[in-house]
Order: sequence, then C-alpha cells, then structure tokens
Amino acid sequence: MSTRNTRRGFSLVELLAVVLILAVLAAVAVPLYLNTQANAARRTCAANIAAIAAAESAQALRGGAYVALANLVGQSEGLAESPVCPSGGAYTCTVAATGACTIACATHGADTQKVLAAPTADPLN
Ligand SMILES: [Zn+2]
Repeated sequence: MSTRNTRRGFSLVELLAVVLILAVLAAVAVPLYLNTQANAARRTCAANIAAIAAAESAQALRGGAYVALANLVGQSEGLAESPVCPSGGAYTCTVAATGACTIACATHGADTQKVLAAPTADPLN
C-alpha cells in the first residue's frame, strides 16, 4: 500500500468557488470604479467652469460686458489656455439679451452649468 498522495491541483468545486468569489468582488468593484471616474470628470468640469466664470467676471468688470470664450484665452485677466472637459464636452459662454452669461459644458449640461448675472455699470457704486 502506497502512502504517497496522488491528488494534484484543485477540484472542480474549489475552482467554481474561487470563480464565484471573484465574480462577486468584480460586481461590487467595477461599478464603484466607474462611478468614481464619472464623479472626478464632473468635478474637474465644474472647476473648469468656475475658472471660466472668474475670467468672465474679471472681463466684465474691466470691459462692462461678458465676451466669448475664445476672447478670454490669452488675456492678462483671462485664461492662460482654453480649459478642456475630461469627458470631451465643449464649453460655451452664451450672453443673453439681458447681459447675463451662461457658461455650460455640452457633455455635463445642467450638472456643471453656471449663470452669471448681468454686469452692473459700476459695481463699486
Ligand atoms: Zn464637462
């Protein structure tokens, strides 16, 4: 009678248990990862829109009116470079007839949109 252990590798049940555990972990981790990525992109986009709004406000304070986004880039009180949405959306600055300015991202829409009130003639008085 041989005492040598002839069993090699894993049984089918052991392999299925490992696969099941990995599937459960992946089912929890993948949606969390994708949600975190989407949140980071949305927050970066909101920060970009806040930077555009600050540059628009400085421009309106100096010039009395909001300008198109392209006219903010390269200005001394404007933006050093045109911001890029991480999700690929294009930014627009829409000036209404009332003088108010709406800054929006084509991808994130109302999630990150910012509306600036019409500039007053002289904000210090
Ligand atoms: Zn965006």
